[in-house]
Amino acid sequence: MGSIVVCGGSVIGLCTAMLLARDGHDVTVFEGDPADVPATPAAAWDSWERQGVAQFRQPHNLFPRFRQIADVDLPELTERLVAAGCVWENPLASLPPSITDRTPRPDDDKFRFVTGRRPVVEAVIGAAARDQAGVTVRRGVRIAGLLAANRADDGRPRVIGVRTVDGEDIPADLVIDAMGRRTPSLEWLTALGAPPPQVESEDCGFAYYTRYFRGPQLPVKVGPVLAPLGSFTLLTLAGDNDTWSLTLFVATGDAPLKAFRDPECFSSVVRACPLYAHWLDGEPITDVLPMAGILDRYRRFVVDERPVATGFAAVGDAWACTNPSAGRGMSVGLVHAQLLRDVLRQHPDDLLSFAHAWDAETEEKVAPFYWNQIAADRLRIAEMHALRDGREPPPPDPVITRLGHAAGRDLDVFRGMVEMLTCLALPQEVFARPDMAAKVEAFGSDVPMQLPGPDRTELMDLLTA
Ligand SMILES: Cc1cc2nc3c(=O)[nH]c(=O)nc-3n(C[C@H](O)[C@H](O)[C@H](O)COP(=O)(O)OP(=O)(O)OC[C@H]3O[C@@H](n4cnc5c(N)ncnc54)[C@H](O)[C@@H]3O)c2cc1C
Repeated sequence: MGSIVVCGGSVIGLCTAMLLARDGHDVTVFEGDPADVPATPAAAWDSWERQGVAQFRQPHNLFPRFRQIADVDLPELTERLVAAGCVWENPLASLPPSITDRTPRPDDDKFRFVTGRRPVVEAVIGAAARDQAGVTVRRGVRIAGLLAANRADDGRPRVIGVRTVDGEDIPADLVIDAMGRRTPSLEWLTALGAPPPQVESEDCGFAYYTRYFRGPQLPVKVGPVLAPLGSFTLLTLAGDNDTWSLTLFVATGDAPLKAFRDPECFSSVVRACPLYAHWLDGEPITDVLPMAGILDRYRRFVVDERPVATGFAAVGDAWACTNPSAGRGMSVGLVHAQLLRDVLRQHPDDLLSFAHAWDAETEEKVAPFYWNQIAADRLRIAEMHALRDGREPPPPDPVITRLGHAAGRDLDVFRGMVEMLTCLALPQEVFARPDMAAKVEAFGSDVPMQLPGPDRTELMDLLTA
């Protein structure tokens, strides 16, 4: 393919560009935000203006799947992250004490990954893209729309380039939308006469309250990274350069819990969670940062078995995005970017067959991450609403409950669960393994794990104290 334009120069747009350039394509990335990549991690955190990414200073975690793809297809990215102060994490390092068989397995290394604060991670990716032959990044150039020629056979548009807000027309053989959750490409496509893509969209219903800390040592992990504690969930993430974050997230409509925005309330709630109170033992480096109004959105560009347009592909959050509590967006986005590269390898010269294959592969290999997350979120939000309203919560998913119970007792089930949580495998792949379903059943239990923390009444008392 001659030239490729990527609209959006954030994590996934830049990774997509690097993957494609390494395959010999000529790729230009257009990023609306003007600021160049800061030279140091400190500058990335302190002063990088990224108005195009509303969640820029919200907590972010990378996952083993991100590292797995980077190590094969984006050489040196992991090393660059480490050099910038990002830290190694290993979910196998904190096995529950109830697991007695701790024998190492030959593939244990696949669980290790490097993570850091989002601005630092993105700055490292930005510097790698700048150094990648075949990639040109034009920052401060906002795309205003798509250019198209009508296809003779069915009148559906074939995208042939983009127009910038300054009126510059840039031709391209393929235009990639990596403009994130707020991408305007749907309006752009329909303005060209394309039929509307399939879109499913709803407010995820969660509000986030995050505070960052710094200290001489990362807090020791005693409880799980993501801890459902009745009407709130607590997320604890390691950051780069001796930093870490604590996030409380709640149902958006839970009015009393808006008090989490107050640093005193925030701390008193964390202090009431015995497995996590020590995460407050550091110097706060931010206020409590709130965020709500986050969309779950999925889009499909083949409608009635025909692509709505050719010469166009959406990747990462521009294709689908979910509630971020599971911390998967960047990892799933990189899976998607790698898939785009692979599909283009198979269909380099035929945009129609590329569009069909891109849709089919996305549906088969990436969409399940989206639908699994949506299902889990809906259960959790229903539970939060019931607790807020003083109703009996709906019964938990029996399979997830048994999985959690068995994962606390059996190393293979624990590993399988971590693979699912960290995007190394889909649930259906893990459950298809010999003995997995039988092991999960054998350990039994319909009682979900209860972590220690304040119940609803104690929480209300804390907030009014
Ligand atoms: C609160 C929160 C917490 C999260 N936590 C995690 C986490 O722990 N782990 C994780 O993996 N993911 C997390 N995510 C998700 C993650 O932020 C996204 O999946 C990721 O940013 C997607 O990258 P992207 O490149 O697809 O889009 P974005 O990062 O949204 O980037 C889109 C880019 O497009 C640019 N752009 C937009 N319009 C134009 C235009 N017209 N012209 C040119 N450029 C344009 C923007 O400026 C921006 O740079 C979280 C999300 C939220 C909301």
